[in-house]
Amino acid sequence: MEKISKKNEDVIIVGLKTPDEILQQFEESIDELKFLVESAGGNVIETFTQSMKTPKPATFIGSGKLGEIATYAKEQDCHTIVFDNDLKPNQIRNIESIFGDDIKIIDRSGLILDIFATHARTAESRVQVELAQLEYLRPRLTGLWGHLSRQYGGSIGARGPGEKQLESDRRAMDMRITKLKDKLDKLEKQRKTRRRSRRNLYRIALLGYTNAGKTTLLNVLTNAGAYARNQLFATLDPKTRIFSDAWGRKVLLTDTVGFIRKLPHHLVESFRSTLAEAEEADQLLIIADAQHPALKQHLNVVESELKRIGISKTKKSIVLNKIDKLDNLAKAELMRTYPDAYQISALSGEGMEELREEILKDIPRGFKTPPYKSLSGQDEEE
Ligand code: GDP
Ligand code: MG
Repeated sequence: MEKISKKNEDVIIVGLKTPDEILQQFEESIDELKFLVESAGGNVIETFTQSMKTPKPATFIGSGKLGEIATYAKEQDCHTIVFDNDLKPNQIRNIESIFGDDIKIIDRSGLILDIFATHARTAESRVQVELAQLEYLRPRLTGLWGHLSRQYGGSIGARGPGEKQLESDRRAMDMRITKLKDKLDKLEKQRKTRRRSRRNLYRIALLGYTNAGKTTLLNVLTNAGAYARNQLFATLDPKTRIFSDAWGRKVLLTDTVGFIRKLPHHLVESFRSTLAEAEEADQLLIIADAQHPALKQHLNVVESELKRIGISKTKKSIVLNKIDKLDNLAKAELMRTYPDAYQISALSGEGMEELREEILKDIPRGFKTPPYKSLSGQDEEE
């Protein structure tokens, strides 16, 4: 799979705006793509956008625009172009033939998968990511072979062996996919057993848009040393820790994977078992970055993803994090828009006391207290 392969690799990004997307959403999506590119180690040198009613079936954006981008890329000696949308296999092929062989074309899903691959740390998430990558790649194989046969001189002679090769590659891929699915099944069973042992414990899942501060909050609430960084998808693997509230009640707190708009479909599918942690939780804390200009959008994405996975009845609270970056006026404004939300800063500690006191205020009786030793570290690296 094409990816950003070296540090500070120069990247041009390209976005297509269609009328069904409002301008603000479009701009936020582009900003996010920049952040994704940086998370993958790249460096955005220019952004090209085009407005069109519908994407061009053959080349996605107009050929005039593509020519403009190609000229710019040549001038700047830039070899990586990332599209904010998902491209069809034939579109990638056609665009590649316009740009020539020394330019990589990456689409949004491909980039997200690449970042996920870099951050997957447990056996389970590695399998999940590889599976998602293969399923993403499979329909694009034809494109890859088209690319190669052009490289090795014309389609006539190259066609036969290319197609044969394609067929056997597909078969190999299918075998690998089956094997990975088996492996995932096994890992899921183990996870289920682990979850069953926690059945009588009260469980809270931290959910939210990526980079909202879920891992930081988990660390602060439980003094765990999980990995928090200003990158998209710094954590992929759920971490479960014991949280003890102001009254000494103890519950389990789980950090889950973050959401992002246009999350590749394959990825969500293969992360089902991770999301099952959230499905089975007794309470959800939806963490959001209060100072992000797209706060409302972020909450909408999380809400609609939850609906899509089928989580609707679980008790939910919104936790607006990073209020250390806001002035009093902005906080009051947020209070009006989200009267029931907690306002906190996991970094400065503001609002944390109230959160600690209130999370468990309505917890029903009858839940067991988690034993300290046997639970810690079960979701650690495998
Ligand atoms: P996650 O993707 O939701 O797990 O987010 P992380 O916990 O990895 O945090 C993302 C970034 O936000 C990191 O750089 C954190 O240091 C930063 N962050 C987290 N909480 C706060 C906060 O309360 N205030 C500020 N200013 N930054 C925060
Ligand atoms: Mg995290």
